[in-house]
Amino acid sequence: MGISRRDFVRTTFCAACSAALFPLDLAWAEKRFSATDTHVKEAYFYKELADGVVQCGTCPHECVVLPDKRGRCRAKTNIDGKLYTISYANPCVVHVDPVEKKPLQHFYPGTKAYSLAVAGCNFHCLNCQNWEISQTSPDKTRNYNLPPDEVVLMAAGYGCKSIAYTYGEAITFYEYMVDISAKARELGIKNVWVSNAYISQAALNRLCDVIDAASVNLKSFSDKIYWDLNGGHLEPVLETFKTLHRRGIWMEIINLVIPTYTDDMEMIKRMCGWILENLGPEYPLHFSRFHPLYKLVHLPPTPVEVLQEAEAVALKEGLHYVYIGNVPGLGDKTICPNCKRTVIKRRGYTLLQNNLNAGKCKFCGTRISGRWA
Ligand code: SF4
Repeated sequence: MGISRRDFVRTTFCAACSAALFPLDLAWAEKRFSATDTHVKEAYFYKELADGVVQCGTCPHECVVLPDKRGRCRAKTNIDGKLYTISYANPCVVHVDPVEKKPLQHFYPGTKAYSLAVAGCNFHCLNCQNWEISQTSPDKTRNYNLPPDEVVLMAAGYGCKSIAYTYGEAITFYEYMVDISAKARELGIKNVWVSNAYISQAALNRLCDVIDAASVNLKSFSDKIYWDLNGGHLEPVLETFKTLHRRGIWMEIINLVIPTYTDDMEMIKRMCGWILENLGPEYPLHFSRFHPLYKLVHLPPTPVEVLQEAEAVALKEGLHYVYIGNVPGLGDKTICPNCKRTVIKRRGYTLLQNNLNAGKCKFCGTRISGRWA
């Protein structure tokens, strides 16, 4: 029997044989929560509708949630006519990473980021590399109990310059992220948001009060591809980029080049043109290599020549900092846009050389965009 696209993206598949296991909708209905449960906290953005129904305002999906049901991200639920997150203080992944892994190449290079994730996502990307945690709900993963105070103390204890909200989609644990970020700021720890950028403007503006940097995906420059590949729309994502720029948040833009989906050079050219016109040439653009994963295992890895072609298009359009990601030996240098000398050299995520003096190229004195020590 055929499977519709809607059912396809909402179905869990066996990792070994790809057999459909169960529709996620059925899984969502399994557990009811109470407002007094651990890890349950009232959502920051929602409105109450009639008959105990609520509408979430955290992301552009604006889910209308019936009593005891969940939103599309599986992380918010309606309890007695109010909307609650079930994602609070229960991360399923906690790790200390180099900040370069986010990837951020122009944000305090060589420092550590205390990284955490909670299960759930408001997108359903067919290529998701973290689908085991993104395409399930927070009550179905093995979690830590880690309140915001403890996260900040752990980050400080490990000598981390920043805390990164990453791996899954931090929009789905928005309340937890905002509360940690506010406390981190009190201790002088930076906050890094790694995201698909699919967030409401109200939620984003509050987030911008407490974060310092964003590693944000621009998955394509086509609304149709956004819908087919990721389950969202392009326009709200573009609005996120404009707001981050206006609010002075350092950002690096990630574009995953997927064969047959996002490898069209004309589209990449239009995307670069939009970045230049709306954000300027200073934010790094990372073209990441796709590897066959999740529901796109039938596609090949992105050929390196395609990534190099995309890099050439972006540089020709006028962007100053363009990187190739997920290819060993490529994308490991930051080049001064003026004298073309190497100002930062890395191997993988390890910093090898830093030729910056107070954020300027030590060879010609040109300011290099970013946040530097
Ligand atoms: S955050 Fe979750 S519940 Fe809220 S609108 Fe987005 S997908 Fe729906």
